Amino acid sequence: MPDLLCTGCKELMGIEIPHPGQAPTKCNPSRLLGSAICRHCGTGTGFEIENDTIIYVSGKSSYGNLDTTLSETVKTLYTEAELCFQSGAPNASATMCRASLEAALTQAKFEGANLFGQITSAKSAGALDDVEVGLAHGSRLITRAALHREALISLSDVPSILSVTVRILNKLASLTA
Ligand SMILES: [Zn+2]
Repeated sequence: MPDLLCTGCKELMGIEIPHPGQAPTKCNPSRLLGSAICRHCGTGTGFEIENDTIIYVSGKSSYGNLDTTLSETVKTLYTEAELCFQSGAPNASATMCRASLEAALTQAKFEGANLFGQITSAKSAGALDDVEVGLAHGSRLITRAALHREALISLSDVPSILSVTVRILNKLASLTA
């Protein structure tokens, strides 16, 4: 198996016993997702391997800082999204992004039959601008696929979903501040 650099302490760690998150699938038998825990510092690093080559590593990148005035519920849901990402669990991460967005829209009193309706309601109220509405719908469609449509997403799809989520959550926080 290939070597991996710890995203915490940058030590080299061989992946001896991978912890399969997404097992190789029928359509992509050479692909493996998982996370490795560093023996030196204990940090988890998510990875995606194809044909014995690491093609993606989820590190402690920044997707923007979450507004601290958001509710504990929203902050917790979003934090779990980042933890899932660092653990090599892209579908779980996307799902928690969606949950944090739904919670923040509900708390900001943007009602709707579903997330589509809630985003539309926030748009009508002028709470989200056109770019934010576009980003929100893109994220909504991807997370719907991961959650309800049996579509598996990749680890490398997740950073954009995380950063969109932070951007919109912060906008919603600024409305109630
Ligand atoms: Zn380490």
